[in-house]
Amino acid sequence: MTLKPMIRNNICINCQPEGCKKNIEKQIQFVKDYNKLHKSKVKFKNVLVIGCSNGYGLATRVVASFGCGARTIGVSLERASSEKKTGTPGWYHNRAFEQTAKETGKNHITIEGDAFSNEIKREVIEEAKKHGIKFDLIVYSIASPLRKDAKTCEVYKSVIKPIKTPFNAKTLNIVTGAIEDVYIPVANEKEISDTIKVMGGEDWENWLCLLKDENLLSKNIITFSYSYIGSSLQATIYKDGTIGQAKKDLERSAKYLNETLKSLNGKAFLCVMKGIVTRSSAIIPSLPLYLSCLLKVMKKRNCYSEAIEDVVKLFYEKLDFECLDNLLSSDGFLHCDGKELNEDVQHEVKLVMDEIIKSGNVLLADIEGYRKAFLEASGFEI
Ligand code: NAD
Repeated sequence: MTLKPMIRNNICINCQPEGCKKNIEKQIQFVKDYNKLHKSKVKFKNVLVIGCSNGYGLATRVVASFGCGARTIGVSLERASSEKKTGTPGWYHNRAFEQTAKETGKNHITIEGDAFSNEIKREVIEEAKKHGIKFDLIVYSIASPLRKDAKTCEVYKSVIKPIKTPFNAKTLNIVTGAIEDVYIPVANEKEISDTIKVMGGEDWENWLCLLKDENLLSKNIITFSYSYIGSSLQATIYKDGTIGQAKKDLERSAKYLNETLKSLNGKAFLCVMKGIVTRSSAIIPSLPLYLSCLLKVMKKRNCYSEAIEDVVKLFYEKLDFECLDNLLSSDGFLHCDGKELNEDVQHEVKLVMDEIIKSGNVLLADIEGYRKAFLEASGFEI
């Protein structure tokens, strides 16, 4: 099927099914090749990935299954194709993952639906009980614009807004490749608390507490949520904005879960990753321009890596239960964002961004690399 990408407000609203399949094959091949040279010390038996179909969650599921030999249960919210529309990229990613997992004898269960709901949590519990599963790793990797509260049915929407001062910046229009002005006013109190409700830690806590009550967690359980702190160049809209408050709430949850999991000798923490091009990051104002500059600088310095490579390294080099305590920073983070936040990299990114803003010369950034990665997330141009 020949399809053209349809992009609205930096969101790709259709996808290329064949390309989505290739995307999975590429990631699985990467892990298989990596395995030939490096053996993972870490073995997981049963891994639950909440938000398994795109970005960091997808890479996590591929590495847990094809790198560490784990049985994976993946949860994600998808839409299958209809007469008029293609399905979501994640729907095709899940099918392609299942197909290769089946062909290569990897145990896997995929549950599609709203991870915030009680129904989907019950479905995971039933599957785990049916198969005698106790989870030894649970990864929370949801990026969602809204959440329906399972108790009250109230719907909360997350917003990406600054908190202290309005955000006046430049951003990249992915369709035209042009640099455009962006202005975002400060968030009000409700917008801040709603964003925390959607992207904060409450649902991660709910999952873990429920699975613990059902006796479905193994001893030495590890759980982490992915997080992002990012560059000071983006702090107004990210770290110091509404989404940053939600990420702070995740820190609170990690502490709470560490206490809750003590009886199982479990560990909970945040894995802070570097910025990558995903469907979710593309809608954060001005991040596409920043990431285009980051790609340029990292490629020039030969330190660019895709999500799958970062997640392989996380699993093979860092997720060892015995070593974890030594690897966590004083604030309890497992940092995998060093390549992005390296002082020299950040200095150069700032110079490139300043020059683009001054001269309008977008060729100084890796716009083409950004555009390609953006389209690949929906299966195009692979
Ligand atoms: P993504 O958009 O690529 O994937 C999000 C996943 O969440 C998808 O599998 C989607 O199906 C799932 N999802 C969304 N709503 C759901 C729901 N209601 N029920 C079930 N599944 C649902 O996102 P991403 O960029 O990989 O982000 C994942 C996490 O990684 C986030 O916490 C994000 O902050 C963090 N992170 C992202 C970056 C980045 O640059 N993209 C960097 C560091 C950390």
